[in-house]
Amino acid sequence: LVSRKKQATDTMIQLGTTKVGNGTPQIIAGPCSVESEEQVFAVAKVLKEQGVSIMRGGAFKPRTSPYDFQGLGVEGLKILRKAADHYDLQVISEVVSPSDIEMATEFVDVIQIGARNMQNFELLKAAGTVNTPILLKRGLAATIEEFLFAAEYIVSNGNANVMLCERGIRTYEKWTRNTLDISAVPILKNESHLPVFVDVTHSTGRRDILLPCAKAALAAGADGVMLEVHPNPSVALSDAKQQLDIPSFEAFMAGIKQSIDA
Ligand code: PEP
Ligand code: MN
Repeated sequence: LVSRKKQATDTMIQLGTTKVGNGTPQIIAGPCSVESEEQVFAVAKVLKEQGVSIMRGGAFKPRTSPYDFQGLGVEGLKILRKAADHYDLQVISEVVSPSDIEMATEFVDVIQIGARNMQNFELLKAAGTVNTPILLKRGLAATIEEFLFAAEYIVSNGNANVMLCERGIRTYEKWTRNTLDISAVPILKNESHLPVFVDVTHSTGRRDILLPCAKAALAAGADGVMLEVHPNPSVALSDAKQQLDIPSFEAFMAGIKQSIDA
């Protein structure tokens, strides 16, 4: 169902007045984790000023260590919704449990399924039972074929509104957090009609190379880019080393707009 052979035209996904997949690149930005109302409102305000219409923020965090911040849960979703409504933004947040999918549809415009859950088949099936668009991230060690089969789980269970997100894969390279597989972008665009995003933050883990990687993603045909921005990254409760602060995010946006206009 996700194959180009089944549908030649690109799938477009309507999020409020925003259209994903119509040729206008969309930026998804926001903090790694929702930490407080103040933090989310500060980011939302900047997104609005920058013309970004989709805000991200994790409320259920899949953390490597059980001792790390696990997220605010439903309280976090409520904060996201409040800020999104205040600034007229669309909001995306990750769900990690099949039993939370239905609940999350009350608060978010897009449900994210993270890299660690790309092959959590019960979660994928649950995501197929709702109409809320799903952003599915590529697994840390998933082939492109496995990634597309994971998307197929969602679509075959009834939800056609799926967006794919390349977020880097594990290799031996240590100077980046993961290896951004830029070749996945044109392959996914050729093989599938679904929109394709690239998460430049989690793929690189380096805020100094986000702009060139984002430009590369768009040049390769991506429908949009995801990145993390936090009002004060040094005190962030997760991914403190890789989130952009607000001035750096503004510089990033200026660079992206320049390359889109060029
Ligand atoms: C995230 O986007 O918050 C996240 C945890 O990313 P990933 O699943 O790609 O690691
Ligand atoms: Mn993060």
